[in-house]
Amino acid sequence: MPKKTAGAKKTPLSYNRTNGYEKISPLDLRKLEETAKGYMAFLGSSKTEREAHDEGLSLLQAAGFKDLDALIAVREKLKPGDKVYKSWYGKTLLAAILGRRPLEDGLQIIGGHTDSPRLDVKQNPLYEGGELALLDTHYYGGIKKYQWTALPLALHGVFVKRDGSKIAVKVGEEPGDPVFFISDLLPHMAADQMKKTLAEGIEGEGLDVIVGSIPCKGKKQKEKIKYRVLELLKEKYGVSEADFLSAELEFVPAGMPREVGFDRSMILGYGHDDRACAYAALRALLDIEKTPEFAACVVLCDKEEIGSYGATGMESNFFENTVSELLALEKGAHEGLAVRRALARSWMISADVNSLYDPLYPGVSEKKNVSYINQGTSLSKYGGARGKSGSSDANAEFVAEIRRIFDKAGVLWQTGELGKVDAGGGGTIALCMARYGMCVIDCGVGVISMHSPWELVGKLDVYMSVKGFKAFLKDERGSFSSRSSSQALREAGEGGRKRK
Ligand code: MN
Ligand code: MN
Repeated sequence: MPKKTAGAKKTPLSYNRTNGYEKISPLDLRKLEETAKGYMAFLGSSKTEREAHDEGLSLLQAAGFKDLDALIAVREKLKPGDKVYKSWYGKTLLAAILGRRPLEDGLQIIGGHTDSPRLDVKQNPLYEGGELALLDTHYYGGIKKYQWTALPLALHGVFVKRDGSKIAVKVGEEPGDPVFFISDLLPHMAADQMKKTLAEGIEGEGLDVIVGSIPCKGKKQKEKIKYRVLELLKEKYGVSEADFLSAELEFVPAGMPREVGFDRSMILGYGHDDRACAYAALRALLDIEKTPEFAACVVLCDKEEIGSYGATGMESNFFENTVSELLALEKGAHEGLAVRRALARSWMISADVNSLYDPLYPGVSEKKNVSYINQGTSLSKYGGARGKSGSSDANAEFVAEIRRIFDKAGVLWQTGELGKVDAGGGGTIALCMARYGMCVIDCGVGVISMHSPWELVGKLDVYMSVKGFKAFLKDERGSFSSRSSSQALREAGEGGRKRK
């Protein structure tokens, strides 16, 4: 039996989970409301990956982060405490605060994504039928198609014209704006439809959006209603039908995030997955006051909902390339091995949402291991499906480090899994980073009704994610347990640089 040390905090014998509101401090309770306000503002103005990028960028610039590309151009040397960002195609964003240690010792990384399920407008989308003009769409990410009918939709995105000029579109969010609509069949005439499964009741090609119903003037013109829409688009945006060919237009649920419940404890919004974690990561980085021990890095990527492929997805070399650029500016020269070491020695939280226990659907969860609303940020050692397949499954040593970091900082947290065994599963960007050999674990805000047009989160869980992410970014790595043995050996030899 180990001898008891006087004054040591007693560890309870059993592990109990409780509602965070029963143990949260008054100070945290105040900060929770501030965080919720900031998050709701961010979420309301970040309905696409481009908008989230722009919102993030303005927060970073206001906090003194500098454009890495500008620093590269003048070959400015990076030093501890320097704040930089790298923007990629106006969609993916990386920001970092250089640490006291060199980058080669590894980074503390939080990575989230800013794309959310939605309906993308097709390349040649506009047509007329039944006295209506409609835009044809191709859905993006995993949606239940029937959920996207019969609700107000807003249109966000850009036209890029042949001369390179870019025209931003945002219709349906201001109080006086019109909205758009996908029809559904009235129950009286839906006898056949109602016999179909939820998956078949509304088809992907059936998700066409009503955008107009007044014909143009002029007797000779064919498809007058479609033509009238083109006239209005020309008037407002200076575009023609061919400009749809090089556009990225996204239909999303219209409206701002709202507080939910008599107690206002929850937030209803479009795109909590994964803007709740993206915001929490950004907020955590922006709140760091002192130069961290290791470089603190946040990456907000695109394309997660469709497999992380593409130049702005985490499967691209964007992250590795940017770390190489940072190293080159820090050391004055680029060394391939230093990049490998920096990546392999990094620690990462793959910040993505988790699913919460829903009392309306108890059968899909296993009650001991599912996350609950208001029990704090949700940590998942593994994801995957059918026997953890496709999961990076974090090492127990790394999970222990996260426990140490969160508990020391007073973060309320819980564990979570996406559905009971063989009932669910899912993947995140954790895999894209684990391939470098770095320690990665999934952690983020729990969501009810994930991937539906309106998703629900608890304010406490958003706040505790900010708090947990900040503690992680600042961490000095108290033990060697999760680091590569070569790094541990090297540092043991250096002595002077070793921390307790
Ligand atoms: Mn996600
Ligand atoms: Mn998702």
